[in-house]
Amino acid sequence: INNRVIKAEKMEMVSHLAASVSHEVRNPLTVVRGFLQMIEEEGTSEAKRREFMKLSVQEIDRANAILENYLTFARPSPEHMQVIHIEEQIHKTLQILTPLAHMNTVEIHTNITDCCIEGNEDNFQQCLINIKKNCIEAMPNSGKLSIETRKEDSEVTLIITDNGNGMTKEQLSRLGEPYYTTKGREGTGLGMMAAFKIIETMHGKLTVTSVPQEGTSFYIQLPVVEAG
Ligand code: ADP
Ligand code: MG
Repeated sequence: INNRVIKAEKMEMVSHLAASVSHEVRNPLTVVRGFLQMIEEEGTSEAKRREFMKLSVQEIDRANAILENYLTFARPSPEHMQVIHIEEQIHKTLQILTPLAHMNTVEIHTNITDCCIEGNEDNFQQCLINIKKNCIEAMPNSGKLSIETRKEDSEVTLIITDNGNGMTKEQLSRLGEPYYTTKGREGTGLGMMAAFKIIETMHGKLTVTSVPQEGTSFYIQLPVVEAG
């Protein structure tokens, strides 16, 4: 019975998120459709056409960002827990973010001791990408991103730290709230919500500390399992 309740809750979460994503993606699609119609119209000037095309690209990028932020949730496949190596996941996701880090002149430091945790690989990667991407975005004009693991008995803590813009107490308290963003049209406010949900699903804990103008640290505590 207990298992069934958990399953039902998960299904509800997935369908809620799927509905939310389709709503969020439909808006940009509608906007782009409108622009394309105006581009096609005889009377539209060349200057207007160029402007509409530029806006269309922006809207498509936005739809893409929304999908990227919780792609794994929108996927209807039932969640598969597996034994995963933490080090491999960290390196894979850092690789994906390398171009973005270069763009912002962000240096990456790692100090990782491998161990195994239990979870869904795609979800965990999504969570790491969402957090590290935020860190890099918080350091637009260079900075340092550090990733470290601390293992204690049956638990590992993954610490991700940036020396970027940081957050005020008020901002920090809203972190993870759906659609909470300070990035305007560039933001979705879905990345941290997904990250918190993923760590919760893995029976872990995600805590965040931040100081404005100094930086932010994310602590991901997870139970350690034996290598499969
Ligand atoms: P988005 O990145 O699309 O805005 P997120 O859910 O990923 O949405 O993050 C929500 C908000 O939390 C961001 O807009 C930003 O204000 C704040 N935030 C998250 N991570 C950091 C960080 N490392 N440093 C400073 N602010 C952050
Ligand atoms: Mg984000």
